[in-house]
Amino acid sequence: MLGLMQRHPLLLSSIIIHAARHHGSAEVVSVMGDGGIHRTDYAGIERRARRLARVLQRLEARPGDRIATLAWNDHRHLELYYAVSGMGAVCHTVNPRLAQDDLAFIMNDAADTLLFADPGFAPLVAALAPQVPSLRAVVLLGDQAAMPALPLPAGIALHAYESLMDEAAEDYAWPAFDEETASALCYTSGTTGRPKGVLYSHRSAMLHAYASNTADAFGFRATDRVLVGAGMFHATGWAMPYCAPMAGAALVLPGRHLDGAALLRLLNAERVTFASAVPTIWLGVLQELERTGGRLETLRRVGSGGSAVPRMMFEELGRHGVTVQQAWGMTETSPLVTISAPLPAHAALPPEEAMRVRLKQGRVVCGADIRITDAEGAELPWDGVAFGDLQARGHWVAREYLNRGAEGAADAAGWFRTGDVATIDAAGFAEMVDRSKDVIKSGGEWISSIALENIAVSHPDVMEAAVIAARHPKWMERPLLLVVPKPGRQVTPEAVTALYAGQVASWWTPDAVLVLEELPHTATGKLNKLALRQQYQDHLLR
Ligand code: ADP
Repeated sequence: MLGLMQRHPLLLSSIIIHAARHHGSAEVVSVMGDGGIHRTDYAGIERRARRLARVLQRLEARPGDRIATLAWNDHRHLELYYAVSGMGAVCHTVNPRLAQDDLAFIMNDAADTLLFADPGFAPLVAALAPQVPSLRAVVLLGDQAAMPALPLPAGIALHAYESLMDEAAEDYAWPAFDEETASALCYTSGTTGRPKGVLYSHRSAMLHAYASNTADAFGFRATDRVLVGAGMFHATGWAMPYCAPMAGAALVLPGRHLDGAALLRLLNAERVTFASAVPTIWLGVLQELERTGGRLETLRRVGSGGSAVPRMMFEELGRHGVTVQQAWGMTETSPLVTISAPLPAHAALPPEEAMRVRLKQGRVVCGADIRITDAEGAELPWDGVAFGDLQARGHWVAREYLNRGAEGAADAAGWFRTGDVATIDAAGFAEMVDRSKDVIKSGGEWISSIALENIAVSHPDVMEAAVIAARHPKWMERPLLLVVPKPGRQVTPEAVTALYAGQVASWWTPDAVLVLEELPHTATGKLNKLALRQQYQDHLLR
């Protein structure tokens, strides 16, 4: 017997329709390229998204077309999110920090037909356009008057976004279509091999946004003001551009201004209550707080992930009255799969043990699931000790990559290999031990590079640390630690090495410590361990 309830396809347009109708005056604040502030609201965003859908029709975009964005977090990018997906096309958010060669590769892999780019990327677009034969038009996100010179090959038209918008009507009606239709496309940054495309659907994005909005996850309220510090070109800005309008929470979009000083100003000036960003960005804010003796006036919660959240971030932000929620996920998982929130039993824990729990990546949100397996694929126990390959499945976990067939695809039961190594404890808290390619295999035993990095950054003069596997004549691999001191401070290898005594098994202690001026990062702001390995893997043989 089937239920007798209504069936409407789960479409992203329903979010912005709801926000415009029921939270129409909730603010959307953007920091523009010149640092100026732009203000609108959800009613305004929905109206402009309808106008933009007419622009897309005029540019002959059809449902299913991949339409690329090279843009920062601002209101125009939000309009593109809703207009492109809402009309049934695929919003391909291109990460501008990728190498040019990778950008050309992914735009061809996606066969993008239109590109909406921030005017600041004009030189990059000029270099890319001749390499992407599928491209028919480039639209620069701004007024005609502010357009930079942009030489394009014959056959690729150039437009100014606001001129097209001025000429378009607002009479567009959001269409209904199959909820399995692709909504957005995002490439993994590809620390190994070429980037791979993850193709979200309306259904997966909607279910992910509902789950992300539950109380022990990001759980926004209409009284929240949400700053999106994760790039909107990265796993749909961790779905904040969907979750905030769903709840009627205001959105604060910082543009490309993500340095500590600019963010601290914005957090206070815009009375932000919740902010998301990778740990590196928060370290910048904390440095600025320390430098200026400033305060976080309204911020109450921070969502962070993308790499392990260091202990000092919990402690320092805690001193400012801010609760940090660590989440784990990846582009392939939309991204949210686990998030840390306390259980009743945690209220009675002594502070040190409570901190141990908070440092974990958390428990699964309903709609997804995880398990850990050994090298033979057998499931490992949830004892907080055994560690193995982390696998995930669920409504918003990738089944396969775009154009890659079986390569990297989930198994028949939906289990997707994440490439992370983790433990899961009896209460279901997962803890990332390492990425499978970063773990150090010393004489057949595994050493977690992340655990060693966390200890190194607990030194008051250390800003950043990386541990890589260096080749070793006897043990095959041994840990090599690379540290960067805080500005104006000095550290010695001996002082850092001394930290490890008593904190880890003695054979985990790094064999050598190098003090460097900076460490390389990937396009998503993570440590580029591949580059470090290439440069330093023979260090212990010298
Ligand atoms: P890429 O895989 O290209 O680095 P993603 O942004 O998809 O790009 O990164 C996902 C990876 O980031 C995860 O597989 C995991 O290794 C790491 N990660 C994400 N969140 C956390 C976290 N809270 N703690 C530790 N590692 C994390």
